[in-house]
Amino acid sequence: MDTSKPPILIIYTGGTIGMIENPETGALENFDMEQFRNLVPELKRFTFQIDSITFHPPIDSSDMEPKYWIKIARIIHENYWKYGGFVVLHGTDTMAYTASALSFMLENLGKPVIITGSQLPIGQLRTDGKENLLTSIEIAADHDEEGRPMVPEVCIFFENRLMRGNRTTKINSEGFNAFRSFNLPPLATAGIHIKYATHLIRRPAPGEAFHPHYLLDTSVIILTLFPGIRREFVETILHIEGLKAVILKTYGSGNAPQKPWLIEKLRELDERGVILVNITQCSEGTVEMRRYGTGLQLLQAGVVNGYDCTMEGMVTKLMFLLGHDYPKARIVELMNTSIAGEVTVAP
Ligand code: ASP
Repeated sequence: MDTSKPPILIIYTGGTIGMIENPETGALENFDMEQFRNLVPELKRFTFQIDSITFHPPIDSSDMEPKYWIKIARIIHENYWKYGGFVVLHGTDTMAYTASALSFMLENLGKPVIITGSQLPIGQLRTDGKENLLTSIEIAADHDEEGRPMVPEVCIFFENRLMRGNRTTKINSEGFNAFRSFNLPPLATAGIHIKYATHLIRRPAPGEAFHPHYLLDTSVIILTLFPGIRREFVETILHIEGLKAVILKTYGSGNAPQKPWLIEKLRELDERGVILVNITQCSEGTVEMRRYGTGLQLLQAGVVNGYDCTMEGMVTKLMFLLGHDYPKARIVELMNTSIAGEVTVAP
């Protein structure tokens, strides 16, 4: 055993990577970590120690909930000093939400947390799971000459790209290259060599300790605009008791139809203390509400800029900030700040 490299902990939550076809129904069902290790004998070829913790039962990531994010964060917290890095095996469907949530919950993270999965189960001949798993382990254990982890961030590794977790989105339900980070280049690419974009990689603030957070408030909705959107439907949604934040998915650079009732409703919500955030329906680019009158009207109604944040990043950022029960002014201030590298804002 090579003791120059720290041990790695695999946290197996479920997903296609660990599924097998039920011969009677044809449906994919989960199997356990022991079966998993038998299907990946390559794991024995790593010269450092690899331990694992399994969710019982493993879950399809469509069943992901904030309570499971808390569970993953706790496992990382409890094992933080024992391991040099963590690999989280997860279904692809909600992987970008989990990666985003963990990026906020694991403040001042000093170790790699690499989330991966696959499109084909690891037991199938053409699986993409083996390569994703083996490269993720390698990245989680990789250190520079001074012994510092190469990527002390929450990332998603898929196919050949390592991406900042809170910048990724699942874009393909079929292909092996299922994730993209449209507004930030990959943190590393894996070919013959693993090439790190070191200038993009975040490092913990010097002298600050790792600080996990477990408070999340889910009083958030997403309202996607479309031509013909009906007033009575929007008003019903925006009247819901307990609503604390609305993510508006707008057109282009952050534009909305010029409907007086919509702007009036938004202004009223803003005055009631509801946080309104603008993100774009475009995959790439950012929100600039001053660019057109159709964006400016939102700014004037109290809508906050979500910049180039992904939907997954914004949902989880709001859950995280609302969970802290900050006053609205503080939340607005933090919405205009990159707290875990999730948005590109001018310093
Ligand atoms: N439904 C599966 C999941 O997200 C899909 C996958 O893992 O690719 O758990």
